[in-house]
Amino acid sequence: MPTYEYSCERCGRFEEFAPISAQKREVCPTCKTKVERVIGPGAGFLFKGSGFYTTDYRSSDYQKKANAEEIPIAPKGLKE
Ligand SMILES: [Zn+2]
Repeated sequence: MPTYEYSCERCGRFEEFAPISAQKREVCPTCKTKVERVIGPGAGFLFKGSGFYTTDYRSSDYQKKANAEEIPIAPKGLKE
């Protein structure tokens, strides 16, 4: 069964196990306040994917700079 995450104004976020065919929860089971469904793992994965891409880009850019700095050092080492 998938886990659904809801956000309650009074209780904060809570998770609920429910069959995929179950109706979307409208109110909090504790305080009966209207709840909002929190975006599921699918969107979270996309967000992480985007973050990973940014990190990867920075990493390769850093490596380019690191390699550029190594170029003057390498011939010097070979001469000695
Ligand atoms: Zn509540």
